[in-house]
Amino acid sequence: DDLALLDADDLEDLGYGDPAPNLPVVAVVGRPNVGKSTLVNRILGRREAVVEDVPGVTRDRVFYEAEWAGKDFWLVDTGGWEEKVDGIAYRVAEQAEVAVELADVVMFVVDANVGITTTDEQLLKVLRRSQRPIVLVANKVDDQRGELEAAALWNLGLGEPFPVSALHGRGSGDLLDAVLAVLPEEGRGDAVDHGPRRIALVGRPNVGKSSLLNRLAGERRVVVDDLAGTTRDPVDEKITLGGKEWTFVDTAGIRRRVLQSSGADYYASLRTRSALDRAEVAVVLIEANEPISTQDLKIIDMVLESGRALVLAFNKWDLLDEERRHQLEFEIEKDLGHVSWAPRVNLSAKTGRHAEKLVPALEQALESWDQRIPTGRLNAFLGTLVAAHPHPLRGGKQSRILFATQARTRPPRFVIFATGFLEHGYRRFIERRLREDFEFTGSPVVIGVRIRE
Ligand code: GDP
Ligand code: GDP
Repeated sequence: DDLALLDADDLEDLGYGDPAPNLPVVAVVGRPNVGKSTLVNRILGRREAVVEDVPGVTRDRVFYEAEWAGKDFWLVDTGGWEEKVDGIAYRVAEQAEVAVELADVVMFVVDANVGITTTDEQLLKVLRRSQRPIVLVANKVDDQRGELEAAALWNLGLGEPFPVSALHGRGSGDLLDAVLAVLPEEGRGDAVDHGPRRIALVGRPNVGKSSLLNRLAGERRVVVDDLAGTTRDPVDEKITLGGKEWTFVDTAGIRRRVLQSSGADYYASLRTRSALDRAEVAVVLIEANEPISTQDLKIIDMVLESGRALVLAFNKWDLLDEERRHQLEFEIEKDLGHVSWAPRVNLSAKTGRHAEKLVPALEQALESWDQRIPTGRLNAFLGTLVAAHPHPLRGGKQSRILFATQARTRPPRFVIFATGFLEHGYRRFIERRLREDFEFTGSPVVIGVRIRE
């Protein structure tokens, strides 16, 4: 594919800064007309800033790289994106939710001359729930008289209100100092709590789950009582692989053969589901020596539904001849195209062949599952992509992508903000490019689209 790469100026024109490191994000939130965009322009230090009195003025950019006292950060002008969409402001509370998803710190702007309105209160409720640090901006305090009104805002319980005149610059230095004081060094990542990572070994009966488990556990046989009908809590096992401890969930379910051979499909599928629930990554065992079956595909679907990371293990490799190997390649292409991003390990639980390759595959899948793309980098990537490959025109209309953020990890979930519906094929295209650029090997990637019109 010949992707025409844009230079920095093009990106700038599109409203996307350079790909920056994981800078923290400051979102400027407030109801319409309190002066958000004026404030943003003030912070960016642009003299020629155009802010018009007419609501619905189209502003082209929403996402800026800003600097104060030697510290860089992303500044998000929610006023800007609110009005980008054909002049129709979308629900204020929703806007706040989005800003908060993006932000490390929220600047909550109110008009000190007007005081607190019900819309302000509505917004504040959302902001409070987010538990992000909030800096209260009392705007339009153009002179000393206004400071009295600003002081009344202590009532909100957000701490000190910062009286500011975005228009004239008054007080903006103190405000930025206060923002920097609560701004993290880096953008928000997820708190990573790494105990041993949790693996579910799943697959249809007789693919070799318990054999593989025994192989990995070093042939240690675990005797499990097999009182048919006895319900028990799932049992997990800790196994050290590649110098690290891993938790294999519900190994009792794997080792209890009576229940598996009783033909209780329903039971097996419940068991698989509950194992997936408790795991972070799934190893789906598939019998390499037999055609890929609908049952295999069903189990893979269950993994996809669960949102867990995925590794495919083709077992009984010792039984394969040349012909079957070719046939298998063909089947994989035909039936497993939708999980082509999953690492594949060809192994034999019986001989131990390539069992050690499971660990790097698991690590890679989990790394992808945990991955967070900083908002700045994501938007730089999307800016380039969308400029080279805009959404197709439909009925004279063109959906435009405004920007995106990664809302979650484990698995990575992205939210794209667009002016209209994004076709399935186009989403797939974005997902493919996202995977290529950021390496999501072994992890599902979820892309949601929020439409503003
Ligand atoms: P937004 O909708 O929150 O982005 O608000 P704007 O930045 O577009 O500002 C709305 C109006 O308030 C514009 O007419 C601005 O000129 C005006 N405004 C913004 N900040 C100040 C300020 O500090 N003092 C005064 N007097 N007017 C302001
Ligand atoms: P489970 O039902 O998924 O736990 O499968 P088992 O581990 O009980 O294995 C089912 C059968 O396949 C047993 O007879 C195993 O000895 C055999 N088996 C498991 N792994 C391999 C393998 O890699 N190669 C060969 N040839 N046989 C295997």
